Amino acid sequence: VAGSVATGTHGSGDTSGSLATAVRAVELITADGDSLTLERERDGERFAGSVVALGALGVVTSLTLDLVPAFDVRQFVRTGLSLDVLAEHFDAITSAAYSVSLFTDWSAPRFGQVWLKCLDDSDLDSTGPDFPWAGPADGPMHPVPGMSAVHCTEQGGVPGPWHARLPHFRAEFTPSNGEELQSEYLLPRRHAVAALRAVAALGPVLAPVLQVCEVRTVAADELWLSPAEGRDTVALHFTWVKDTASVVPVIARLEAALDGLEARPHWGKVFTTEPAELRGRYPRMTDFLKLRDSLDPAGKFTNNFLRRLLYEG
Ligand SMILES: Cc1cc2nc3c(=O)[nH]c(=O)nc-3n(C[C@H](O)[C@H](O)[C@H](O)COP(=O)(O)OP(=O)(O)OC[C@H]3O[C@@H](n4cnc5c(N)ncnc54)[C@H](O)[C@@H]3O)c2cc1C
Repeated sequence: VAGSVATGTHGSGDTSGSLATAVRAVELITADGDSLTLERERDGERFAGSVVALGALGVVTSLTLDLVPAFDVRQFVRTGLSLDVLAEHFDAITSAAYSVSLFTDWSAPRFGQVWLKCLDDSDLDSTGPDFPWAGPADGPMHPVPGMSAVHCTEQGGVPGPWHARLPHFRAEFTPSNGEELQSEYLLPRRHAVAALRAVAALGPVLAPVLQVCEVRTVAADELWLSPAEGRDTVALHFTWVKDTASVVPVIARLEAALDGLEARPHWGKVFTTEPAELRGRYPRMTDFLKLRDSLDPAGKFTNNFLRRLLYEG
């Protein structure tokens, strides 16, 4: 949980913030060995800077999370959504369920699968939500072409507890493929269609090293280093083959294609964005660096990754 929160890890849903937005208090052991507790209601700005913090401020020893009553979810899969239709109905499509994920291998400007995770309420019939843009799947599916759906959480609208439906993969199986590299870019959702068209145009470049691409949405938050900070977000995730030498040049092409669209790379995935450029995409970065200087002036928690990204160049 600490690692997920520290990088702004997220799921999908127009009204769902990243996991870090569920944090209401964080307890840190800071560089001088003291314990520091920051609370959302009490510590305002300092709290907003300390939740998604990449381990740079100290060791998180405790998190207090918002809780909600347990709820049931029903998962439906639709197949064959064209990019043109998505472009025309983007808001209606991403709000068609509590959580929506779109999958493509970019071999064509088309999403092979749309996963709809719906709250199990009495208005929902056995065919799922109204979704005129793509037809129902004829059986359980895995998002990565060629992988067995036995790894996936139950589909077909069978109600189940949130923890057995919101993840795509069953806890007892390897998630995704297992043999992979991952990248993800989070952009203001107003750039969604432009970004998707730019990625589609790169299809022939992506296809040889891409296992699957997943498009999700995330609600805006106020956490300084969160990739969804200050903007309702569309997230473009890429599961690549596990071949760094072949994948990195493709990532550079992809980042060039997204230039000008304010893409923030996921902190925990592979990217090549220049550090100075990256810092410029976070309006509260200067505040974060001041906070870090006040809590860890000697850089006890600074590793090579943080040094390069946050402090050099
Ligand atoms: C199969 C797979 C599926 C994934 N799916 C998603 C997804 O759906 N959505 C998404 O957004 N991401 C996803 N990710 C990315 C993943 O959620 C992030 O990389 C996450 O940060 C991993 O957390 P960790 O604890 O495993 O990593 P770690 O490498 O241990 O930690 C990540 C960061 O957190 C910091 N940290 C960890 N523990 C502490 C602590 N106690 N105190 C202070 N700092 C700490 C570390 O310093 C580091 O900066 C996925 C990754 C994989 C491998």
